[in-house]
Amino acid sequence: MKKSQDSNTLFDVESIRKDFPILSRSVNGKPLIYFDNAATSQTPQQVIDVIVDYYSNYNSNIHRGVHTLSQEATDKYEDARQITQKHFNALHSHEIVFTSGTTHSINLVANGFASLLTKSDTVLVSALEHHSNIVPWQMLCEKTKATLKVIPMTQDGALDMDAYDTLLLLNPKLVFVNHISNALGTINPIEEMIQKAHKVGAAILIDGAQACPHIKPDVQALDVDFYVTSGHKMCGPTGVGILYAKESWLHKLPPYQGGGEMISEVTFEETTYAGLPHKFEAGTPNICGGIAFGAAINYMNSIGFDTIASYEHELLEYATRKMNTIEGMKIYGPKENKTSVISFNIKGIHAYDLGTIIDKLGIAIRTGQHCAQPIMDFFGISGTARASFSFYNTKQEIDVFVEGIKRAAMMLH
Ligand SMILES: *Cc1c(COP(=O)(O)O)cnc(C)c1O
Repeated sequence: MKKSQDSNTLFDVESIRKDFPILSRSVNGKPLIYFDNAATSQTPQQVIDVIVDYYSNYNSNIHRGVHTLSQEATDKYEDARQITQKHFNALHSHEIVFTSGTTHSINLVANGFASLLTKSDTVLVSALEHHSNIVPWQMLCEKTKATLKVIPMTQDGALDMDAYDTLLLLNPKLVFVNHISNALGTINPIEEMIQKAHKVGAAILIDGAQACPHIKPDVQALDVDFYVTSGHKMCGPTGVGILYAKESWLHKLPPYQGGGEMISEVTFEETTYAGLPHKFEAGTPNICGGIAFGAAINYMNSIGFDTIASYEHELLEYATRKMNTIEGMKIYGPKENKTSVISFNIKGIHAYDLGTIIDKLGIAIRTGQHCAQPIMDFFGISGTARASFSFYNTKQEIDVFVEGIKRAAMMLH
């Protein structure tokens, strides 16, 4: 690979950028600078081609037809499941359940636990969660009358691990925590959290939506019970994601939705369910989405997660250094153990106003609560501006962004 002008690593970002057609469009007359990767990532041509090929050549329903198209679609869909299994190092391909995304996956598990919890049970959530990993559990606790306790966070935006140890003395049945916080970029010590949960007999679910664009998790090495993620944050399409669960849990949990595909036999007296993973995949799934998700995983692996992580870390350090020279800048979250997410405010300026002005310069960032209101409440703020970088971003883009913030700050002060 030729040395990039943009970085001192051996990573040719300009050639990577050519894979993403959207990166060459302009916004408001300026070249697009896309720094909203923590909300959704962009899609490379290699994945777009797979989507076009599906609808152009073999669009049909799976698992039903004897006809050729249906067989082709079924094979490709099951291939994608195996790509996913390999990527996450699941023991069995039937431990990978295709869902519509992280939110759906968490609801599936929370719904399943309704029959496994009673009012004397406790479950633990972390203070750093996305609403997706809070609300389904609140609904579960309302239904079962189980108690929901919160693992608190520190001023640095990390989890308070001493408090976690203390909460584990309550013998919780279940712990749910994200691998990486979407609002602050905090990388949580999930290895330690999983081991400690298991020591007291608790199951643990890891929300990996924000981790999988940067890290390749090994579910067997982690010994995690449930790991969930979305395709659209890792170069795949929206509307598809996975639930990884240990086989024993998938046997234990009841189905989430009833319908076609998930049954073995149906009479009006009784229905028996299909085997794994189909028991959890009612109705026609996002077939094209699943296949494209597999292609996205292949694409990211062709670049390599070590390469991605080290380049993104360089972008993070570069941007943090430059942004800290801006007057009134406050960056939230940890200084170390974080991914390429920078959540910030500038003194005296509303994040929304900042976001609106720099959009005029073609720069896309997220503003607001980032679906994590408890974190904003903790810091006593209404929201932040958030820039999140991917491996296809560059230092030149960060330079333009930093100049843009300075200009916006001047206009707004
Ligand atoms: C994006 C995100 C979610 C929600 O994912 P959906 O694809 O919207 O279901 C949940 N948790 C975290 C940490 C996220 O970043």
